[in-house]
Amino acid sequence: MIAMKTAIHLHTNYSHDSNRSPEALVRAAAREGIDCLAITDHDEIDGALAARDLGLMRVIVGQEVSTRDGHLIGLFLHRRISPGLSAEQTIDNIHDQGGLALAPHPYCTLCDSSLGAALPRIVDRLDALEIHNAQNPLPWQDARARAFAAANGLVEYVGADAHLAGFRTPAYQLMREFAGPRDFLRALADAQLVAGRFGLGYYALMGLRHVWDKCMPKHLYGFGRNSRTRSAASPVRAKRPSTPQPEPSFVRARR
Ligand SMILES: [Zn+2]
Ligand SMILES: [Zn+2]
Repeated sequence: MIAMKTAIHLHTNYSHDSNRSPEALVRAAAREGIDCLAITDHDEIDGALAARDLGLMRVIVGQEVSTRDGHLIGLFLHRRISPGLSAEQTIDNIHDQGGLALAPHPYCTLCDSSLGAALPRIVDRLDALEIHNAQNPLPWQDARARAFAAANGLVEYVGADAHLAGFRTPAYQLMREFAGPRDFLRALADAQLVAGRFGLGYYALMGLRHVWDKCMPKHLYGFGRNSRTRSAASPVRAKRPSTPQPEPSFVRARR
């Protein structure tokens, strides 16, 4: 059986905190030997759709939804999920589309957007739990997530939570081929999880971006070029660019 290298939880510049276009993400992933990407922009699916429509790689259309209780991931989506609802309502909306509901970085204290306390309320409705987040340098928070997943018999996965151009994807799953959401979940349950973390350079740039966004009226250069929200936590919508801007370095066709 040939294992598919599948990376889950990646952002494009349709998120306010990412600096790479869908095309740049897909091409970089292909160079790394990744076979399947689950792209999950903040409150947005257009970046994932754009990546899928390139036809270069298998792409699962997802969204990292800002619920009232913290971030929730929907995979295999056809329509954008409304942010700002309760975790329960958000899970229902994901399932209504035939999608899967995943809990990313459930105990991360660095990002101020984890489900944490809401988990016991929704555990019976979750499809999978992120037991490792490559963007979180604090391993004991992942250990807590692993313990919760094991105690509740949840399907586990590792999240790349990748935002930046120029860095390899350190966390991914090696899993068999799958057909559709339910089969994906079964394949995920049997997958081998590769749980690496980003290095200091990644954390330094994300830290700079975070401080910049707090202090400056505009995003740091290249970030959020296609995002419609100023901040994932903010319901205020900024003016959307009229046309998505392609990454300049990838205007040349490959073939
Ligand atoms: Zn998140
Ligand atoms: Zn994320």
